[in-house]
Amino acid sequence: MLLQVARKKTLHNLVNKIKFGKLKGGDFGRAVLCYVAPIVMKQKEKNIQLSFSKAGHFWLDSGLVGLKKILDEMEKEVNFKQKDNEFILEGSREAVQRALEQAYDILVERYYNISTKKQREDTRAYNFYYDSKKDRFYSFPKKKSCGIAEIIYNKAPRPTGTSVKWAYKSDKKVEFEYNGKKIKRTLVRLPESHAHLQERMDDFLNENELDITTSGLLVDGPYAVKPKVNIKVGSEPKKVKGHCYFCGHPSDTFEEATQTTFPLITGTSGVLSFNSMAQKPEKVCWKCFFLGKFVPVNGFYYTSGDDIFTFFPY
Ligand SMILES: [Zn+2]
Repeated sequence: MLLQVARKKTLHNLVNKIKFGKLKGGDFGRAVLCYVAPIVMKQKEKNIQLSFSKAGHFWLDSGLVGLKKILDEMEKEVNFKQKDNEFILEGSREAVQRALEQAYDILVERYYNISTKKQREDTRAYNFYYDSKKDRFYSFPKKKSCGIAEIIYNKAPRPTGTSVKWAYKSDKKVEFEYNGKKIKRTLVRLPESHAHLQERMDDFLNENELDITTSGLLVDGPYAVKPKVNIKVGSEPKKVKGHCYFCGHPSDTFEEATQTTFPLITGTSGVLSFNSMAQKPEKVCWKCFFLGKFVPVNGFYYTSGDDIFTFFPY
């Protein structure tokens, strides 16, 4: 804070000197300092260590192995070492946060947000979104989770960007001609804010023979099957509010245990009578909430008729 005030003052003085033609040799150094100081400050930022330890719980430990497998194959800006029953990520807070976010994105794209061969081949059933930075439309196949990921998270895909509600949507498919080709699809009109995209969107839909299946235009991101996580790399808990139901570590914030944390437990969306005396679901720390989702990396399964047999080595 002090440094910032000092920098502002130095800059102010320099501007005045330039204005009144009183700039001297030493002023150049001060000017450089004004711009270099913030960079030096950034480099001096302290490294942190974040550890994930074995919990002695088959599900979470299988997730721990899963996370390690993905981190092992990733290029990352953090140090990664294994010690006894834990592994430690070391680097700036931002770098550690980024590494975990990247590991999570890899996990989701490999096990949760995937398309079957049929879904990929059926291009006319594709959905689409508008990318505002590139100013163009993209189509994408339907997605679903698979195998162990499907057991713990069999949910409909959700928008990853925003959605702009249609101003009008026809009740039925309408037949019309486009470039000599017969098209039959739902008609929609974009609201005033996005009306400039209407013509291009219609052309895109007609050329790719797509239909409208959403309640609005998806903007800056497709639909994706992605369980929510809350990666909170940071300092030690400020005010301990309790202990995690699984690992027992103190924490200041908690997540509600759900089936992706551990499938033999249920959150508020499930059957509450599952909990003793129909009480509230257990609370877990962000790390356990995070680790449980990595089980599909390490676990394996086979199906026989309607049965699925799963194995969780750890
Ligand atoms: Zn925990």
